[in-house]
Amino acid sequence: MLVVMQAGATPQQVDAVCKRIEELGYVPHNMPGAQRTAIGITGNRGTIDPASIEELPGVGEVIRVSKPYKLVSREVKPDDTIIRFPGTDATIGGRELAVIAGPCSVESRDQALTTAERVHRAGARFFRGGAFKPRTSPYTFQGLAEDGLKILAEIRERFGLRIVTEAVDHESMDQVEQYADVIQIGARNMQNFSLLKRAGRSRKPVLLKRGIAATLEEFLMAAEYILSEGNYNVILCERGIRTFADHTRNTLDLSIVPAVQRLSHLPIIVDPSHGTGKRNKVTPLSRAAVAVGASGLIVEVHCNPEKALSDGMQSIFPDQFDTLMDHIRPIAAVLERSVAPRNQAAEPITVTSAASR
Ligand code: PEP
Ligand code: MN
Repeated sequence: MLVVMQAGATPQQVDAVCKRIEELGYVPHNMPGAQRTAIGITGNRGTIDPASIEELPGVGEVIRVSKPYKLVSREVKPDDTIIRFPGTDATIGGRELAVIAGPCSVESRDQALTTAERVHRAGARFFRGGAFKPRTSPYTFQGLAEDGLKILAEIRERFGLRIVTEAVDHESMDQVEQYADVIQIGARNMQNFSLLKRAGRSRKPVLLKRGIAATLEEFLMAAEYILSEGNYNVILCERGIRTFADHTRNTLDLSIVPAVQRLSHLPIIVDPSHGTGKRNKVTPLSRAAVAVGASGLIVEVHCNPEKALSDGMQSIFPDQFDTLMDHIRPIAAVLERSVAPRNQAAEPITVTSAASR
């Protein structure tokens, strides 16, 4: 159920409607829009009698939401969600493409800072790097945990990059939440409902990756878990799905981008690295992702991919990332989007042997 307030409704009238919804035993979700405020109602098992809400001052109409997902849907919020990072020019879902780049894993201070310097110089506003890694084998590198998060915090300080990093469970979420600007929930955890609810109670934006076999509806329902707990800053990410095709690691399903945009106000970005698993396919699929209208890219870049402790085969070299950024600029312009400009080279990075590994 959705309450659409009249265009001129006052904040007091919105509060009174929220209060009435609570009195009825449901949860109100206030979604202000450019034209008018909508209030989503969750927590109801059956249908709600609209009569007791319809008559309140400032209410335009009370409508039934036809989709199984509610808060993520455009019915509830027609305008695109734009996620802002106060004190910076970084946005996700706005006119500027959100470019997130960095290694699969934070391996050392030297590796992370060297890579960060290059992606910052190329114009990325966000840095990625896992400190907790969901690996297929328990015997491979699992991440530096809090030491990795501290390196990421240093990168934010030094380059002004916003940090995107993954939480794999409740324990890591407690730590990731303290250091990250965006909490990543990986493909393997897309339907970890208790983790989704925990992310929904966080105040940090959440990057939710599509599960390897998730349908569009399952993907949106997973996001709905996060919104239903009160966190409306969710970014969806297409990262490839499992198919019979074996020339790539996964099959990047770019058609989900316009499909999501039709149904949901949430931004959707594309991960061409996990989506293909092959370095030589990352730039072509990045171009395609921008052309299809994605709100951004998350790309694995490594200063020395041949030595990477995870996902080296799909990590591009910093020079290749420069080219990728040059290629997407004119494509973004066709869609009236922009890409942040290049930055000057930073001061040389000093790496002490004690701090590096
Ligand atoms: C990652 O971003 O490094 C990662 C593990 O992604 P995914 O969950 O999409 O496999
Ligand atoms: Mn990876």
